[in-house]
Amino acid sequence: MSKLLTISSTAIAILLTAAAGTQPAKTSLLPDSQLTAITSEASGALAKDTIIALGHLHRVHASPGFHQAAEYIADRARDYGLEEVHIESFPADGKTTYNSFKAYLGWEPKSGVLTELGESPQVIADFSKMPVALADYSNDADVTTDLIDVGAGTSEKDYAGKDVKGRIVLAGGNVAAVHHEAVDQRGAAGVLSYQPNQVTGWSGDYPDLVRWGHLSPYNTANKFAFMISLRKARELQARLNHGEIIKLHAEVSAQMKPTNFEVVTGIIRGTDPAAGEIVYSCHLCHQKPGANDNASGAATILEDARILARLIREKKLPRPKRNIRFLWPPEIAGTMCYFARHADEVAKMVAVIHMDMVGGDPKLTHAIFHLTRTPASLPSFTNDVAAVFGSYVYDGARRAAMDGDFTNANISTEGSKEMMLADFHDFTMGSDHDVYQEGSFHVPAIYMNDWPDVFIHTNGDVPANMDATKLQRVAVIGASSGYFMASAGEAEAKILMGEVFARGGERQSQALRRAFAESDILKGLNIIKQSTEQERSALDSIKSLDPQSKTTSDRVEDLKQRLSMREAEAFMALRDIHGADAIHEGPKLLQVYKRNPKVLGGMDIYYYDYIKDHVPEAPNSAAPAPPLDGTLAYEALNLVDGKRNVSDIHHVLTGAYGPVEIKKLVDYLKLLERAGVVTLAERTSAK
Ligand SMILES: [Zn+2]
Repeated sequence: MSKLLTISSTAIAILLTAAAGTQPAKTSLLPDSQLTAITSEASGALAKDTIIALGHLHRVHASPGFHQAAEYIADRARDYGLEEVHIESFPADGKTTYNSFKAYLGWEPKSGVLTELGESPQVIADFSKMPVALADYSNDADVTTDLIDVGAGTSEKDYAGKDVKGRIVLAGGNVAAVHHEAVDQRGAAGVLSYQPNQVTGWSGDYPDLVRWGHLSPYNTANKFAFMISLRKARELQARLNHGEIIKLHAEVSAQMKPTNFEVVTGIIRGTDPAAGEIVYSCHLCHQKPGANDNASGAATILEDARILARLIREKKLPRPKRNIRFLWPPEIAGTMCYFARHADEVAKMVAVIHMDMVGGDPKLTHAIFHLTRTPASLPSFTNDVAAVFGSYVYDGARRAAMDGDFTNANISTEGSKEMMLADFHDFTMGSDHDVYQEGSFHVPAIYMNDWPDVFIHTNGDVPANMDATKLQRVAVIGASSGYFMASAGEAEAKILMGEVFARGGERQSQALRRAFAESDILKGLNIIKQSTEQERSALDSIKSLDPQSKTTSDRVEDLKQRLSMREAEAFMALRDIHGADAIHEGPKLLQVYKRNPKVLGGMDIYYYDYIKDHVPEAPNSAAPAPPLDGTLAYEALNLVDGKRNVSDIHHVLTGAYGPVEIKKLVDYLKLLERAGVVTLAERTSAK
């Protein structure tokens, strides 16, 4: 007895001494030794070198430029010690389907020059010097004709009283839509486009940028389009307005033809093949130079491959139990192809880290870096893994900039010392994470993305806009999050549970604030209910890291109970304020839809619109203007699971995203039914 006492008081004394003398851990999820191994190895300078190399290539889907980029990445990945590195090919032939995606053709551009004729001919656009000057999916041409201004060029009225036949139209609208109206419908020879870029706070401030444009990759009758700056377009318009005849010669050598979508892949083998896979994703495609979008993502997952492969090879990090897979596809299309061929692999994916635009120097690009959450249809622990490592990096960067404390600064030898202009952001769409998280596949993503970047999709997206320090910091968040998830078992699940529960409580409190602000108590109650349901599901998702363990499962269930107790308390607080008598629930829509298992994947796949292609053109067809679009359409389908009725889906959408007209949801689900994507399952009994 006395001996035991002696031992335990000695143990306490040791613990106290240790506690007094040590710093708090850098993060709750990885031991400092492992995190430090990662931060010491990470190099933003190497990532930037990769961006510079990729920036030489015009990397359009299924084109020779993409192929060269794929070869480059595969070579680097082999050098860096990834295993099983290879390039997979998928026919890009305008016919083959990959789940809900129908392939388009490849494109082989060789040259394209637009010259203004006259006493001293002037070159207006030249593909060999600036590839974005020729719109993607232009075809062979050799035409001499004059120029006519059609304004936006996308609607009937733009062409009133104008004879465009055989001429080149000068237009500012979406270049594919202009081609349809001017060339396909009215016999114009081609298009000269000054299509503006996506809207940001800086729209119109950079009149010399030339936008990357594309014609329809499904239209083999495409002629050609050249792209010019707004400044050049204004000059040409002024001259046309003065009655000047502008004679142009267009010479294009480019062909739409069957080629292949190519996806580069490689792997770090885990110790337990049954434990599933963690994936790193990006998109290797886009225009030259396309530095931030998306050479930066391709380069930074390559840097994570290098960091992890090296540290594991040198035994500075234990080999994780899960496989870590790396994928470099053409955006969305390539991921759809890969998923169609590797359904067994997809079923084993536990989580994905997707990087799209991660290197923009905010002083130049005005970029804000986001760690973006999963959609409401897919609550996941991944959000809190990102929160832990994101906070470590953001806070370290801030302390360096503010206090000169470089302990956790993660500064590149070739980069800035700025703090990160960065946040944690609610779900947004727009890249391959949409495929992973879609209701057919359910792979939760940590989505890392800059928005805005004022140079996106233009000739101005150059490597000089990239900050090597930012790249290094993103590489650290990526490598530490991925390594943690690849290694996690029972002990890690236990720590992560605490993070999800604690941070989930904060999110529940935020939901309660929103609920109190609602004058309609039913809306308030729904916000609390949906928020709590999200957190319960996020806790549930932790079981996928330790699926066999009853201990983990029991712990998760206990914490879910505690969330439900908080929910009950929040309900009561809301009733205290509004008065319990005020609750009158309306009628419920009890139809239950289920997915057609033969149509996996989303409806909006890069250039492909599944609904438009499958709903026959009826006079009242809703297909040209779907009742729901964007995130709401994506999520409405994701929430179809054969269990939720229409009212349940409506509640999730309104609780997470704000007001949604129920009629629009009903119409959209009917449209999906007409397209053969969902079928009516049954009616749930009224409760
Ligand atoms: Zn893009």
